Amino acid sequence: MTAHATHRVPIQHLVNVSGGKDSTAVYLLALESGRPFRAVFADTGNEHPLTYEFVSRLAERTGGPSVEIVKADFSQQLARHRAYILRSWPEQGIPDAIVKEAASLHEPTGSPFLDLCIAKGRFPSRMAQFCTEQLKTLPIVLEVVLPMLRAGPVLQWLGIRAEESAHRARQPRWNRHDSGSVLWRPILGWSVEEVWSMHRRHGLGANPLYALGMGRVGCMPCIHCGKRELRTIAQRFPEHIERIERWEAIVAATNKRGVSTFFAALKDPMDADRPGTYAGIRTVVEWSRTSRGGRQYALFFEHQPGGGCTSDLALCERVRDGEGPQAARAAVPTLSPALPTERDSMLRSTPP
Ligand code: SF4
Repeated sequence: MTAHATHRVPIQHLVNVSGGKDSTAVYLLALESGRPFRAVFADTGNEHPLTYEFVSRLAERTGGPSVEIVKADFSQQLARHRAYILRSWPEQGIPDAIVKEAASLHEPTGSPFLDLCIAKGRFPSRMAQFCTEQLKTLPIVLEVVLPMLRAGPVLQWLGIRAEESAHRARQPRWNRHDSGSVLWRPILGWSVEEVWSMHRRHGLGANPLYALGMGRVGCMPCIHCGKRELRTIAQRFPEHIERIERWEAIVAATNKRGVSTFFAALKDPMDADRPGTYAGIRTVVEWSRTSRGGRQYALFFEHQPGGGCTSDLALCERVRDGEGPQAARAAVPTLSPALPTERDSMLRSTPP
């Protein structure tokens, strides 16, 4: 046997942590496997402080590895866009005061989410959901996955469950990601009760946001958040609505239209009173408090069943959509938490 044939590169395990219950269950599962692993969390700058605290204390509460935090940096994009504004807007007849204000706002703010929106001159939307890739996927891939891949194969453990949505129910147990890592969804067939039971087994309380009424953990709010969720945020965490209101004013001042709203598609051509108007977050919050909802905004939210984040790395937690848990669960058999051998052989290596 040659030296080459006997040399096996160990698999490196990486758990994607969002601060939500499912990725926490996967972190605990990795812990139970006894294999060394790393864990990573992408900080969007649009999270609740309780999530930051939960993630940063996960290691001390469980005896597992510290969760590494990555953060996108848009300083170069901001500088490029600032230069473009100063060069091109005056040529387009934009008044000096507007040019100066827009250019002056192109400085890093400390929040990747806001920096990205300033650089783009808009908030993400269902049709232009650049947030997940720019704020979560790319920082994790560039800062953690690619450097790990230089040392050997990488297996990413994802907290995706079939019950969450029909889209997630169709996902495979494992597949290769564009980055070159292999994605594994060890709790694909788990029920939410199994997720909580994993927390209980480790004596770990969940992210406190659940007890405070939130159905999901992630951006506060997410661009896909539903009516009830927005109402809960406004009731329990009004400071986040105030922050988004300030962000709307900033992003509006960085584009030529002079308007930008967090919920981008709030236009109803059928609305005779306000056809095609943009609605700021305050207006949408007011609507979220109505018992039956308004025609204008319902159009928007009805197109966003169960959240809508399409992250294939389980980086944005979803809430279950209207297809019902039984239908989704039936699509995927319950998995054993044991590591699948076919994935290991695919990697042509053996576990460490
Ligand atoms: S949680 Fe929502 S707003 Fe945040 S990155 Fe994911 S899709 Fe975008």
